[in-house]
Amino acid sequence: MPLKLYNTLTKNEEEFVPLKKEETLRQAQDGDALRIVTMYTCGPTVYGRPHIGNYSSFLMADLLKRWLQAGHQYRVLHVKNITDVGHLLHDADQGDDKVQKEAEKEKVHPLEVAQRYTEQYLEDEAALNMLEPDHRPRASETIPEMIAIITELLQRGNAYETEDGIYFSVETFAAYGTLSGNTLENLSAGSRIAVDEQKRHPADFALWKKTVAGNAHHILRWKFPSGEKAEGTTEDASAGFPGWHIECSAMSKKFLGETFDIHTGGEDNIFPHHECEIAQSECASGKQFVRMWLHKRRIDLGSAKMSKSLGNVLTLPDIVAKNYSPLDLRYYLLSVHYRTNLKFSWKGMDDAKKARRKITEWMSEVKAEGRSDPAGGATTDASSFITIFTEAMNADLNTPAALAVIFEAMNAYRAKKPLDAASRAIFIDLIELARHTFGCFEEEAEEAVPDTIQKLLNERSEARAQKNFTESDRLRDEIKKSGYEVRDAGRGQTIKKL
Ligand SMILES: [Zn+2]
Repeated sequence: MPLKLYNTLTKNEEEFVPLKKEETLRQAQDGDALRIVTMYTCGPTVYGRPHIGNYSSFLMADLLKRWLQAGHQYRVLHVKNITDVGHLLHDADQGDDKVQKEAEKEKVHPLEVAQRYTEQYLEDEAALNMLEPDHRPRASETIPEMIAIITELLQRGNAYETEDGIYFSVETFAAYGTLSGNTLENLSAGSRIAVDEQKRHPADFALWKKTVAGNAHHILRWKFPSGEKAEGTTEDASAGFPGWHIECSAMSKKFLGETFDIHTGGEDNIFPHHECEIAQSECASGKQFVRMWLHKRRIDLGSAKMSKSLGNVLTLPDIVAKNYSPLDLRYYLLSVHYRTNLKFSWKGMDDAKKARRKITEWMSEVKAEGRSDPAGGATTDASSFITIFTEAMNADLNTPAALAVIFEAMNAYRAKKPLDAASRAIFIDLIELARHTFGCFEEEAEEAVPDTIQKLLNERSEARAQKNFTESDRLRDEIKKSGYEVRDAGRGQTIKKL
């Protein structure tokens, strides 16, 4: 059964065939290469705790990776970067570097800010049960690779130097605008792009910013083209820092080569970020950059889009503070198709929590009964559930349909049990497949906290919100006497059975 995915580049659902497989078949060889998929995910810019809208995009990539593994037995070579320098406000060429700005606010070194938020981000990813990528390159550690691409673009005439940086000339790349649907005409008329007198076209974008004029205060800087570190805060035209877009071109090339299979990101990344990645990578290599582009639709909170710049965000600790498991959030975000705009609500969180608990409890029940192995029982053929689940996931990751199959299987199982061993085995196969694919029905998440403890946790959450620490400590002791340990996690709490 082929896997079909919606490719933003072609605006079509296409059958997914990995590049390595095509190459290997062309050379009439076989072996492990047949099963390799190369995938790049735009990671976070670490200037604050990522919000759940960011995580919904990372979760889409995680789901796809899991399905390539569990549904198709591919080995996914996955790269997910960390942006710690060069991402300017409003994703454009002007304004401050987001990490540097936060560092100035906190009066610390930019890398200290980056380190702190990288740690928080990794904590969140682990709590959300995301698979580790093979590589997590940091932009600040991939400077020589970026300079190599910029040098190539200068030599080929796709880039030019101005007083304040090195720019990519969009008019040298005929396919500019294919991904986003923009044209150079509407971009030059658009007010979104600030006019810079020295730019040849308003849509030209920075590959490199010199630390002169408005950027003289930029602390993280490197010499061009040697790539040597040149930290400081003085005006120095021989030093600078990379533009945000070139970072992903360099970090993906370093680990995945000039052409790779899949690139994922949020829909906000389509323009300018991904459009610019394509332009500079393809002009430098002369080859296709990415075969399939997948983008996660955004999340809305209330009537507005969830965005840090609008101050309209929820983080994972905000969710945990309301006594939801991170896996409830994982279920919620994955239960809506990735190309559907999700309107976040607490009612939706409640429904997700209940649904996830129901499925997880049923899965444990089947497993327990499978292990007890009673003699006899009815025979039923449940293999169609696996087929329908697989078809749903292969249809551009149709998660709502795949979850509906799990509920159907649950009802069928309960209506027909006790089942014989062979029939149970098929249900167990379905459960294994669904567990690996969704990553939120793990066994350790099954244990529900008793209502009495939950009540104390709620009271404690309230006490903490009111900064009544005497009461919160008293409640912690009371919870401990009942055999549970509560820990503070940001603004939330975690609970563990002693
Ligand atoms: Zn990126």
